[in-house]
Amino acid sequence: MSNATHRSPLEATDSTPSALGGVQQIAPGVVRIRLPLSNAFLLGDPGGPWVLIDAGTPGSAGMILRAAEQRFGTDAAPQAIVLTHGHLDHIGALHALLHRWPGVAVYAHALEQPYLTGQSAYPPPDPTVGGSMSALSPLFLPGPFDFRPHIHVLPWPPGAAALEGWEVVNTPGHAPGHISLWRPADRTLIAGDAFVTTVQESLPAALSLRPRTVHRPPAYYTPDWEAARVSVERLAALNPQIAVTGHGDPLEGQVLTQELEQLAAHFDEVARPAQGRYGARPAVTSRDGVLTLPPLTARGQALRWTGIGLLLLLLLRLALHFRSDDQGSVNPPE
Ligand SMILES: [Zn+2]
Ligand SMILES: [Zn+2]
Repeated sequence: MSNATHRSPLEATDSTPSALGGVQQIAPGVVRIRLPLSNAFLLGDPGGPWVLIDAGTPGSAGMILRAAEQRFGTDAAPQAIVLTHGHLDHIGALHALLHRWPGVAVYAHALEQPYLTGQSAYPPPDPTVGGSMSALSPLFLPGPFDFRPHIHVLPWPPGAAALEGWEVVNTPGHAPGHISLWRPADRTLIAGDAFVTTVQESLPAALSLRPRTVHRPPAYYTPDWEAARVSVERLAALNPQIAVTGHGDPLEGQVLTQELEQLAAHFDEVARPAQGRYGARPAVTSRDGVLTLPPLTARGQALRWTGIGLLLLLLLRLALHFRSDDQGSVNPPE
């Protein structure tokens, strides 16, 4: 098959970026920025017009700006920002970036609009699906977020040169209006969180990005597993040569093909949580946001309070730490 003769664009560049804020060329005109707990992507050739895909975790604006400046020049604003979806780890730096680029339009699917225009919070996370990140997930704010007047409904307007050749693939399930981006010419896929390439439910894996493997959408924040399965089938049918996702390192070639096919073929056994709030029944949403939610189990309630308790303990420890620092320090000279 053509995979055997394909020259890997990953091999052609240095290596996986090990540092936060590190960049990695994935394919011609596609760069990944490694951010704390998520990825963002720059589309466009060096020095030319460009587009930002997703906007990182809170506090990551500086890393995104540095990567963009290095590639496209100082103060080069993007033609647009496109969101695969609006979860906190993909819009965390958006307010800061829009402050820097006040004229830039942000595009998301119509079904993401209620969560990005202050209308509705996302379906709440489910801490009962297993894993340390899942246990912490009640701390990840589900919104609502408000990016008016910047936010616009897809499709993006014609004329954004950096988006030429790219298609939107609707991949709902992890979020109601989740999209992936697909470039048929070289079979490059930006999958968002429709599937990911690390075990995002585990905090050590989410931080180390190991193991590197095709994995279900982050389970603690996936409220519709039926739709998520259909979306993975849709992406597997594209047979991507290389895929980058919202979490984890890129995957390509035969490993990607085989693992993605496996996930699609056995989704209900390996991906859909056997227990959990949304395993059997989805959150029901509309263009106005969340309509109904399956009830939270007693175990879910307990885990939610555990997560909130952990956060309060952490804040208390930090407060005491800084207080003792204050008391121990001498007044600085005027
Ligand atoms: Zn997400
Ligand atoms: Zn994510």
